[in-house]
Amino acid sequence: MRIDIITCLPKLIESPFQHSILNRAEEKGIAKVVIHDLRDYAQNKHKQVDDYAYGGGAGMVLMIEPISRCIDDLKSQRAYDEIIYMSPDGELFDQKMANQLSLKKNLIILCGHYKGVDERVRQHIITKEISIGNYVLSGGELAAAVISDAVIRLLPGVLNDETSALSDSFQDNLVAPPVYTRPADFNGLKVPDVLMSGHEAKINEWRHDQAVERTKKRRPGMMEE
Ligand code: SAH
Repeated sequence: MRIDIITCLPKLIESPFQHSILNRAEEKGIAKVVIHDLRDYAQNKHKQVDDYAYGGGAGMVLMIEPISRCIDDLKSQRAYDEIIYMSPDGELFDQKMANQLSLKKNLIILCGHYKGVDERVRQHIITKEISIGNYVLSGGELAAAVISDAVIRLLPGVLNDETSALSDSFQDNLVAPPVYTRPADFNGLKVPDVLMSGHEAKINEWRHDQAVERTKKRRPGMMEE
């Protein structure tokens, strides 16, 4: 899978892809994330990518020209499944959408900044708009990192234990059961006996029961889905 991320602040998004699981995915050749600086596509001499809003009001708006130029350039090199714009009023991101996106081959993610992007970008260039929650960030970069992380870790071969992503919260409409590690006794706080029993069927049953209990308590609506 390849994800091209377009931003006017590349430094804001480089680091999440340079460590741990995302970096490993790249080293294994499973996912490639390429970050594009919108300023490289600005044609004016000050490399300006934003301008005042027509009609007045505070806040700058990202201009359509550099965005269009950058996306045309990418589209001339390969076919893209989706051209995504990160937006607080987009479709709410969840595990189901992460699963769907993980089946795609090439994605573009456009990050807005300041007041957002010129509406004509959203109307005529973007194919999908995604929000990571009902709150406003200062830019789309962190949101793009969130969805890229959630998607890339699902790709086969990225996590060492192939079944690991499947046992995470939300994959089967259940949240994850509690987990413990050494020591077995911390100042009298003990690990449940069943986990120490070595009895695999009983352990699986306990984990399932715990997951159901937790889901009822924390995400009551989810089990009905
Ligand atoms: N004026 C806009 C907010 C702009 S915030 C409005 O009120 O809707 C600047 C940029 O941050 C946006 O263009 C978007 O790319 C990104 N952004 C902010 N909140 C986000 C969220 N919850 N999910 C995804 N992207 C978000």
